[in-house]
Amino acid sequence: MEQYRNLVTAVQEFIHQTHHHYIQGKWVPSHSGLTMEDIDPSTREVLTEVARGGKDDISLAVEAAQQAFRDKTWRQMSPQGRGVLMWKLADLMAAHLEELAQIESLDMGMPLRQAQYGTIPMAIDHLRYMAGWATKIEGETIPVSTGSFFNYTLRQPVGVVGAIIPWNFPLLMAIWKLGAALAVGCTVVLKPAEQSPLSALRLAELVTEAGFPPGVINIVTGYGPEAGAALASHPGVNKIAFTGSTEVGRSIMRSAANNMARVSLELGGKSPNIICADADLKRAVSGSMLGIFMNQGEVCSAGSRIYVAREIYDQTLEQMTAYAKNMRVGMALDIKTQMGPVVSSEQYERVLGYIAKGQEEGAKVVAGGQAMPGAGSGFFIEPTIFSQVTDTMSIAQEEIFGPVAAVMPFDTIDEVVERANLSAYGLAAGVWTENVRTAHYLAQNLDAGTVWVNAYHVYDAAAPWGGFKQSGFGREMGHHALELYTEIKDVWINLQ
Ligand code: NAP
Ligand code: MG
Repeated sequence: MEQYRNLVTAVQEFIHQTHHHYIQGKWVPSHSGLTMEDIDPSTREVLTEVARGGKDDISLAVEAAQQAFRDKTWRQMSPQGRGVLMWKLADLMAAHLEELAQIESLDMGMPLRQAQYGTIPMAIDHLRYMAGWATKIEGETIPVSTGSFFNYTLRQPVGVVGAIIPWNFPLLMAIWKLGAALAVGCTVVLKPAEQSPLSALRLAELVTEAGFPPGVINIVTGYGPEAGAALASHPGVNKIAFTGSTEVGRSIMRSAANNMARVSLELGGKSPNIICADADLKRAVSGSMLGIFMNQGEVCSAGSRIYVAREIYDQTLEQMTAYAKNMRVGMALDIKTQMGPVVSSEQYERVLGYIAKGQEEGAKVVAGGQAMPGAGSGFFIEPTIFSQVTDTMSIAQEEIFGPVAAVMPFDTIDEVVERANLSAYGLAAGVWTENVRTAHYLAQNLDAGTVWVNAYHVYDAAAPWGGFKQSGFGREMGHHALELYTEIKDVWINLQ
């Protein structure tokens, strides 16, 4: 087919091979023999079939991870040895960057340019950053007053990590989990999202090539309620690292409670993005459009509630409308594409449903608002902007996870703080102002794990990431992430 013509040969071959689970360093078919279809959202065509894992496959993978955790090869590998392996994997990812970017683009509709120059390089940087931490997991000495003791702490790996990830940044999400877990010496069972498992499976081939001991990294593909639920409730899993919706996050917490598994949750968002009257408007408009339309709006931190100072509201809305109308929407694999298709028919219906609901509730579409059959047979939706939105409407409260922005005026800084915080979520926030006092005041007072001033969607492996309120708890990235994967052991040595 036309759009597949430029695929590198390795991708063509990889896609058409049989996709089993990766357990104990080997490719293992599903115990049930079942498979599931994997769709290309740019064409709605079936790309390939992938193993549909269940309880038995999860048990096999958890046992492999438990064995690898106890195994001397991994346990006695020096921290430097672990770091070197991780770095080697990052080098292999870099050597196969184009291939990984094409797989990501095909599998979930991420614009190729974004995969190639943004997401995949970010995943590589993240792994290298975490590789550096392998040699820096330190304890402390404690000057106890009780008796004559030398007291110190060890930070030890928590054990087997069950990692469950969403479809919006498949490889990056996998690496966010693997990086911290491997750095501290954990072993992992990863369950990728049903819509986009391919880059994780290609990563598994690189894991073998890098020389990781078998069982340190295991991957079971399948549906959430089957493979995901089995992983979250498996008594052999010591920690569950979950990224996904708040709704599923709640059920993960409930199943983790039975086994007292540690949990960290990176959940949904409805992030406010505030443009003050003194903002550099040109930067604010393009930054805010990136904030909502990057990755088709399928970003947990998408700036979906845009608050604009009333005195500049009309001109800002006009510029945003023009920006949205000029965006190039098309096949994900086309390097010129700025916005690809949404990931699935379910997501397509959901986003279009919200656009209809916004109109029913009285908001006005000023850009987009329609499906785009003209862009191809895939799940294409126009970049959409609403005006006349009130804070209580569904499109201002609920996470749409698609290319839909609500642009609302505000009058005072305190008012906008109150309205911005009027959300169950608290993942990220944007602020556009030239006034340093306003910037710091907003940064202090917004309920958000990350605040960007005069920027949006900037990430770095060294900067902590995570949410307030129903956006979850725990931090990924930065040294904070490592704490989620270690236990503290206190040791008393009697010196008398
Ligand atoms: P989702 O439906 O919650 O799914 C996330 C993962 O959980 C998938 O692998 C899914 O499997 C699995 N799952 C579903 N039901 C499960 C169950 N009962 N037990 C165990 N696992 C289960 O979320 P999504 O639609 O993939 O992703 C979108 C959401 O992720 C949004 O809310 C977004 O904000 C959030 N997100 C947050 C961050 C962050 O850093 N805070 C980053 C990215 C995305 P299947 O897909 O195979 O069913
Ligand atoms: Mg897919």
